[in-house]
Amino acid sequence: MARYTGPVCKLCRRAQMKLFLKGDKCLTEKCPVERRPYPPGEHGRRRSKESEYYVMLREKQKARQIYGILEKQFRNYYEVASKQKGITGENLLRLLETRLDNVVYRMGLAFSRPEARQLVRHGHFEVNGHRVDIPSYQVATGDVIKARGDLARIKEAAESSTKAEVPAWLEVDYEKLSGRVLKTLERDDIDEPVKETLIVELYSK
Ligand code: SF4
Repeated sequence: MARYTGPVCKLCRRAQMKLFLKGDKCLTEKCPVERRPYPPGEHGRRRSKESEYYVMLREKQKARQIYGILEKQFRNYYEVASKQKGITGENLLRLLETRLDNVVYRMGLAFSRPEARQLVRHGHFEVNGHRVDIPSYQVATGDVIKARGDLARIKEAAESSTKAEVPAWLEVDYEKLSGRVLKTLERDDIDEPVKETLIVELYSK
């Protein structure tokens, strides 16, 4: 499946916020958002008036980049979300949060979402006892996600994680490198700085 392979730190600088795409580096002073807190490019420092459309577009790009999803797939998520019962924006965020790669990252078994995605693709996780190597696999309430074997990198991530960082909708056993989805996500369970209403407005135009 296609994925963005360009320079990820530029994405953060364009969003003018940390998107935490590089694991350890994101927490150090080497993070380019800390060192150059303005958009990249020749005109990055120049403040320009932002149109309403630009603001909505940037919000959508930010959400895509946080979860590492290309435009077409993101649009597909929107189409599914709009057909589900409930509020489209919340449905969209729920679909993104319950991707297997995101859940592995949320459990603290990878240092970043891109790393979680790679670990899943390489078959290092199983869901309910079955190997799953599809990062976009949707986990459901009650599903048990477990690392297969004890890969050093996964153990390292687990050792540097604490249960306090794990969202309330997940429980994790760092000894067993496994976790379980406890409940259906509500909007308050998702703490990413995304204004989903702007995304819905953009796609509804
Ligand atoms: Fe973003 Fe992390 Fe790069 Fe900082 S180090 S710009 S948070 S990806």
